Amino acid sequence: PSKDFDNFRTLLRSSKHIIAVAGAGLSAASGIPTFRGTGGMWRKYDAFSLATPEGFAQSPSLVWQFYHYRRQAALAAQPNRAHLALSFFSLPAARNQIVPGSTFTLITQNVDGLSARSDQEPPILEMHGRLFDLLCTNRKCKHVEFNAESPICEGLAGTEMLIETKTTDPNIELEDLPRCSKCGALGRPGVVWFGETPHHLDTIDGLVAQADLCLVIGTSSKVYPAASYAEEVKRHGGKVAVFNVEHSHGDSKAHYLFPGPCEETLPKALGLSISVDRKI
Ligand code: NAD
Repeated sequence: PSKDFDNFRTLLRSSKHIIAVAGAGLSAASGIPTFRGTGGMWRKYDAFSLATPEGFAQSPSLVWQFYHYRRQAALAAQPNRAHLALSFFSLPAARNQIVPGSTFTLITQNVDGLSARSDQEPPILEMHGRLFDLLCTNRKCKHVEFNAESPICEGLAGTEMLIETKTTDPNIELEDLPRCSKCGALGRPGVVWFGETPHHLDTIDGLVAQADLCLVIGTSSKVYPAASYAEEVKRHGGKVAVFNVEHSHGDSKAHYLFPGPCEETLPKALGLSISVDRKI
């Protein structure tokens, strides 16, 4: 694959339908802890305990503390240059000066809400849901509360500090965990867990089918279906550009490969100069 930015910008200018598929690496420079990195103590739990419906049924208290911690970390973080570059590029007036008459959609696996906070032009397809949504577990109710405030219940307030100091987690009683504001049943984080179906799949399939350029940003390309999108774009003749600090499964599909932090390589590839003085 080519690493030539000038060459990439020539391709970009002639593209018509552009998509970006983003992962946790997009938010790395914002200091969002990765699953493995969170406070150390989470390492003693596996993904099954923390990110499956079965794990939640086994210990809602443990799972809620994990997600409460992640919510607090996301709230404290600021969008970085890569978020801002995508946000600028998503504005039709700005993009038209770089790529006249093109469409652009961000498909993200991230649940931290940082793309939305960076004024990314909608729709942002947050295929794995959002940390800040609260879903009712009562099948008859199924109420979804968007952007539930944080801390979302008294039982969780302060538990993020326990995690920072790596002390053991308390067992929070069910009634002290977040509840549905409509029916009072137990609430759960509005994220897509292993074994659950991601959001917006039909819309995404349509976009992938027509895309002639796919930017793969900060994802290990191991989690499906997101991992298949670049392959599909390449299969029907579109081009793929991968932005990652490490080698990833996306490399084998790449026509362009930009190694390094995406907060540096992405603005450069899009021909943008981004200042991060802005607090959001
Ligand atoms: P991943 O952890 O599997 O891969 C992250 C990738 O980002 C790696 O390939 C890594 O080399 C790369 N990376 C790290 N820093 C980078 C940087 N500065 N610039 C460019 N690349 C960088 O994450 P994934 O592919 O998103 O898939 C894992 C799952 O974990 C997803 O389902 C996602 O929803 C979830 N997750 C989300 C967040 C978040 O919302 N910020 C954080 C952790 C995990």
